[in-house]
Amino acid sequence: MRLLGLMMLALPLAAAEPDWQTLEPYALSLLQRFIQIPSINPPADTKRAAAFMKAELEAVGIAVKLYDTGDGKLVNLVARIPGRDKSKKPLLLLNHLDVVPVDRKAWGTVDPFSGALKDGFIWGRGTLDMKGIGVMHMMAMITLKKAGLTPERDIIMLASCDEETGGEKGVKWMLQNHAADIDAEFVLDEGGLGTRDIFREGKLVYGISVAEKQPLWIRLRATGTAAHGSQPIPENANMILYAALARAMALAEGGKANDVVEAMRKASGGEFAAGKFTAAIQKNTMTLTTLRSGVGDPPKINVIPSAAEATLDCRLLPGTSAEEFVSELKARINDKRVTVELTNTPPGDPGTSNYETGLFRVLKQVILKYHPEAEVTPMLVPYSTDSTKFRHKGLPAYGFTPLVLPGQILATMHSDAERIPLDQFYTGVRMMFDVVRSEF
Ligand SMILES: [Zn+2]
Repeated sequence: MRLLGLMMLALPLAAAEPDWQTLEPYALSLLQRFIQIPSINPPADTKRAAAFMKAELEAVGIAVKLYDTGDGKLVNLVARIPGRDKSKKPLLLLNHLDVVPVDRKAWGTVDPFSGALKDGFIWGRGTLDMKGIGVMHMMAMITLKKAGLTPERDIIMLASCDEETGGEKGVKWMLQNHAADIDAEFVLDEGGLGTRDIFREGKLVYGISVAEKQPLWIRLRATGTAAHGSQPIPENANMILYAALARAMALAEGGKANDVVEAMRKASGGEFAAGKFTAAIQKNTMTLTTLRSGVGDPPKINVIPSAAEATLDCRLLPGTSAEEFVSELKARINDKRVTVELTNTPPGDPGTSNYETGLFRVLKQVILKYHPEAEVTPMLVPYSTDSTKFRHKGLPAYGFTPLVLPGQILATMHSDAERIPLDQFYTGVRMMFDVVRSEF
């Protein structure tokens, strides 16, 4: 009798396969409504976006807490589903509520905050970065609840308010003020992806990001002598800066061999496709992003200015020390008339997340279930994400974007006509659910 009772209890759980027929239209409507809340940063105002998420999660009985960071606008959200095994620390799903601004005219007839369905895509700011994944996280939790499944370990979701401006009030603030509420063993963030052209033309390579480059922002300022443009002088601040930049740029090719990049190369069949992404992950880079000079507004064409400035967005591979990089840069510029100033505090080398873990194996299995032909690889990304803040604390953080995207669609992130393929979005929803119901 007792045995029978147990079996009967176990049955509904085992039989509870999600009803995707009704879940998919719901996932679509969630993403469309989420896109329709224009949580543009700056100025970050995630109050409505957080309230929207909260209502949807609470409707199925998921516990949600909001965190007002001070002004009523920068609001973080944490949701939690308790797990069965309290000896295991939680899995943290990390997404962000904010999106970058848009150039409306460049979107043509599509309203960037419509969530319109057109040509097999859902269109809108944030569909890729990262409301689409945010909805996959929400759906994974909601689907667990609706199917009556209790996950092995606690599943926590943190939707942060200001990732696009550096995460000061988002992940950083949460770690400083409410670390216990997001304490976890693993973090799943944005970052990696599957693609058939970015790594290698015609080959499906699926990256799970485990490392990223360290941003180092530098301002060069050249000082010279103001004078009349009719008579050239060697103390022209523009020419001093110009020469310094040419010497500085010669630095950009450095960077030690990196295990993750080598794993990516192997997964790509031994050779990368040419492109800005594959070029950036193989070396330390230096990009000249701004130039400021001239006297007057608009600047006078016949006046030599006494000062000129440039900023360099440098990205260092793991294993490169920021101090070494800067001192080498100064030695190369070697001109007392040029100052080299750091405009950000280098966060330090966050290293690489261990990718020999149970969760990494599960991610790989889930990818292969939907894409048996894929080469799955750990991945290094050239930009920075909030994952770094967790890697600094020693937590494995993985960038898992369960989408297969051509480079041309990925390029719409932070650009115009951002959109997500509808079929990929639905596959991603199922993949994320498969991850949270797994044991690892
Ligand atoms: Zn993002």
